[in-house]
Amino acid sequence: MKTLGYATQTADAPLAPFAFERRALRPNDVAMEVLYCGVCHTDLHQARNDWGWSMYPLVPGHEIIGRVIQVGSKVTRYKVGDAVAVGCMVDSCQHCDQCRKGEEQLCREGNTQTYNDRDRITKNVTYGGYSKHLVVREEFALRVPDGLDLAQAAPLLCAGITTYSPLRTWNIGPGGRVGVIGLGGLGHMAVKLAVAMGANVTVMSRTNDKKAKALALGADRFLAWTDAEAMAKAQSGFELIIDTVPVKHDVNSYMPLLDVDGTLVIVGQIGLLAEPTTIPFVMGRRRLAGSPIGGIAQTQELLDFCARKNILPDCKMIRMDHINAAFEQLEHGADIHYRFVIDMASLKA
Ligand code: NAP
Ligand code: ZN
Repeated sequence: MKTLGYATQTADAPLAPFAFERRALRPNDVAMEVLYCGVCHTDLHQARNDWGWSMYPLVPGHEIIGRVIQVGSKVTRYKVGDAVAVGCMVDSCQHCDQCRKGEEQLCREGNTQTYNDRDRITKNVTYGGYSKHLVVREEFALRVPDGLDLAQAAPLLCAGITTYSPLRTWNIGPGGRVGVIGLGGLGHMAVKLAVAMGANVTVMSRTNDKKAKALALGADRFLAWTDAEAMAKAQSGFELIIDTVPVKHDVNSYMPLLDVDGTLVIVGQIGLLAEPTTIPFVMGRRRLAGSPIGGIAQTQELLDFCARKNILPDCKMIRMDHINAAFEQLEHGADIHYRFVIDMASLKA
């Protein structure tokens, strides 16, 4: 199937139109027309080769909403016309202990990422959702529940599940004391989801600029890093802190904010942190953890939860040809407390 996308050809090139082919359908594949695709900070990291494993041309995009246009001969879950979603993974081994538990993101053989990875059968490079069409095995397509606005749902597929999963892993419920560091794409979803679970949520941000936004999202409290007095008062106040900061940073200043047995879970930076001191770990029995996206079943659970609770990401709709400006804004950590979402109808063949 011939299709059109947006790709970057090198780490310092802007994204530009790119014509390519999607594979012919295997018996368990669905083909979809991509309607909307969210812009994750990971797309920027990968386009710029921040992690050292980018393969070019690179077509980013792993927050994908679309409509089924064709199904393989053995597909049972979907039919033409269904609204479907695809997140960060398009395949996994399906037989290891983690896959059998529904934790495909932790597949022992490694899951297959939606872009910048290799198809398990053809070994061809995978291309993501900044494109008109996508072909995916049906097990990795999610059902978009009725009532979830297609134009706003895309960011749930990465920003949503990446913050929902640690809230579930650490059993956050009513009254849970949750901190969220960085009020960007992931951070604003973490706030909405934790608030919907009944938690008491504090946003921690670099400056006071996003205070009104954080409170409007339902956060109970707001802390700026620069406010030493407020930080000191907040010590031992949290059972879970979700850290979405996308660059190398220093966790020493906020490990003491965790209560005994509390956990700081890193979902942002992949790579080095500034040297952490073990003092707050040892003295307060605190933990530093990480968490990657979430499994397919849990992603479906999240979509259903959001439909039921009427939770939608705050989106700023852009045209495909606005993507380089959006990347620039993300790169400079400019005033972003929402998700850019690409309206794929703006990409004309
Ligand atoms: P984003 O929209 O750019 O938000 C990141 C937020 O972090 C910013 O809004 C800002 O919040 C804060 N920030 C930005 N630059 C900073 C800096 N230099 N120092 C300190 N804080 C800074 O990014 P995102 O899409 O939420 O993604 C965040 C990170 O999560 C990225 O690294 C991405 O690759 C990663 N990610 C991981 C997973 C996973 O599976 N674990 C999944 C998706 C994304 P304030 O202005 O409030 O300080
Ligand atoms: Zn992402």
